[in-house]
Amino acid sequence: MFILILGAPGSGKGTQGKILAARLGLPKITTGDLLRAAIREQTPLGVEAGKYYNQGKLVPDSLVLDMIKDQLDRPGAKEGAILDGFPRTAAQAELVDRTLGQRGQRLHHILLLDVTDEELVRRMRARAHVEGRTDDSPEAIATRLQTYQRDTAPLIAHYAQRGIVHRVPGTGTVDDIAGEIKRIIGR
Ligand code: AMP
Repeated sequence: MFILILGAPGSGKGTQGKILAARLGLPKITTGDLLRAAIREQTPLGVEAGKYYNQGKLVPDSLVLDMIKDQLDRPGAKEGAILDGFPRTAAQAELVDRTLGQRGQRLHHILLLDVTDEELVRRMRARAHVEGRTDDSPEAIATRLQTYQRDTAPLIAHYAQRGIVHRVPGTGTVDDIAGEIKRIIGR
């Protein structure tokens, strides 16, 4: 089963994705973590990606599409995966649909974590103190929220046409939200 966790930055995708992946015994593919590792190691991809990442902008599709395809093609993701942080653009969504479609598979559920903008900003500022991410500056936070609305939120309509989008209230305790996701997916 392939499940996409969608939501604005700070909506809790990483936390809920981890719980869900452990429960279902599926790998979690997290493009943000892959990019952070590449930036840390200063690989050619990391050097290029870092220029966008630090400003809170999306890393261009030309740089991330191959990485996404490689991840989906890994043997561990044959039976399914939790997608965290991608697809984030129309081109990425097309790639995911095409790659899974060629294998007779598809995205089964889109979980949309719904959190107000005020709460997102509050969480990201709090996280900045703890994690020290280079994209948690006030400017980068603002850019990330705008980018989500402009580039990623339109994917909701794309998937809603297929009737696979579930809106999950993203406020409440971590356990409450995980319970709601369990109820929606039925396992
Ligand atoms: P995240 O950890 O998912 O919030 O992602 C942090 C940053 O990594 C984003 O602001 C982008 O710069 C970059 N990033 C992560 N995933 C993607 C993606 N699928 N496409 C483009 N950029 C991404």
